[in-house]
Amino acid sequence: MPRIAIAGFQHETNSLSPVMTDLAAFEMADSWPGLLTGEDVITQTRGMNLPIAGFAEAARAAGADLIPILWCAAEPAGHVSDTAFDEIAGRIVAGVHAAGDIDMLYLDLHGAMITQSDADGEGALLVRLRAEFGSKLPIGVSLDLHANVSARMVDLADTICIFRTYPHLDMAETGARAFARLMACFRSGRPQKAFRKADFIVPLHAQHTGAEPARSLYARLYDDAAAHVELALGFSAGDTPDRVPSVLAYAQTQGQADALVETTFAALNEARGFFDTTLLDAGEAVRAAMAHSGRGPVVLVDVQDNPGAGASSDTTGLLRALVAAGAGDVLMGLFHDPTLAARAHEAGTGAEIEGALGGRSGVRGDSPFAGNFHVEALSHGQCRYTGEMYGGGTATLGPSAVLSPIGTGIRIVVTSIRNQCLDLGHFAHFGLDPAAARIVCVKSTAHFRAAFEPIAATVIPVASPGLFPCRISPLDPAGPLASV
Ligand SMILES: [Zn+2]
Repeated sequence: MPRIAIAGFQHETNSLSPVMTDLAAFEMADSWPGLLTGEDVITQTRGMNLPIAGFAEAARAAGADLIPILWCAAEPAGHVSDTAFDEIAGRIVAGVHAAGDIDMLYLDLHGAMITQSDADGEGALLVRLRAEFGSKLPIGVSLDLHANVSARMVDLADTICIFRTYPHLDMAETGARAFARLMACFRSGRPQKAFRKADFIVPLHAQHTGAEPARSLYARLYDDAAAHVELALGFSAGDTPDRVPSVLAYAQTQGQADALVETTFAALNEARGFFDTTLLDAGEAVRAAMAHSGRGPVVLVDVQDNPGAGASSDTTGLLRALVAAGAGDVLMGLFHDPTLAARAHEAGTGAEIEGALGGRSGVRGDSPFAGNFHVEALSHGQCRYTGEMYGGGTATLGPSAVLSPIGTGIRIVVTSIRNQCLDLGHFAHFGLDPAAARIVCVKSTAHFRAAFEPIAATVIPVASPGLFPCRISPLDPAGPLASV
């Protein structure tokens, strides 16, 4: 059976974030495990909804011999430092060398990495690998649905598979598809490929595949044993010309690959005007939530402060609107404020502390929320995911607390490590039940939908200050930061 080296190096870079992504960010655990090496790449991801886990499982079932090198991912933030990129890329290159004779290489990448010196991090990694190992080694890649796919990536990888769901429920499945396509390269030779990029940006909250037009675009992608089409919708906050939707096709003949790309490209262009980009201002959204009388909570989505898109997860605009409107029976998560979380731990459960929550990331129009808080619950922050997207995994929140501004009826999960609020376990971990609340506020863009839509009366995306602008037409030329 073939010998396949495997590695993962994931980052979604938000060019608007002032927080550099350094090596430590790849080494630490957050929403996903910390940096893994050797056999841990397989054993510590087994059963998780991750591309490399799906690839490894499919390879194991087929009897392939895997040589795991490393896997790492950092929470989305600003540019990846050249030091971090050089270190991790160098370790992957060294690992492939150490693997000896291999038949193939698989890479679990995001596809929207920007380093200090290259706006196409994945392309830069592939350049290094091709320089070391030549053009003959079959290289298969899996990418996120929010990949900003470059022509260089398409040129240097023999086959690319891309998630087809947002929320990303098919990450492991995409890894398994990548295994099948890479095996086809090995056995039958490289496919012909075709590639086209759109000339418009789709805001992320409009990309979710539970709604049109994304649902139909993905449902209709061509896929058979010898040919397939892949579609990435792009990540708008990555400052690169590649941050627009991409269509790729692979087939046995160039003619078929070209024809397949054109069919999906035409459908994408027809869909252009139908992505639902609606966002309400915070005050308007809170009024709508308070007026709602359906069963289950109204979920208010702080889309522009989603740490999963590189935002700080600490802006206070939606909280202020809730307090101003007198909205009670509210759960909010996840606020990133290590200082206040530490003070809550010092004071203990049941204590009252005076302090200021969040608002420290330099976002224009944002400031800390000062007041007295009741410490309702504490945790060291190892939180099991319970939902479909990350179930089986563990969120590392760091020392965390449930804080309630006195007299408001608002309970806020405050963490020491940035994590996107996308799983009911983030609240249940503290004994809180989102289904029983009147209003639930999540700092997420669309991933929350998998877990929260089934319990929600309705979902309202909100535009509050944040480092991840989703009202991108017209884009504010000054950007979201106050001081740059
Ligand atoms: Zn994504």
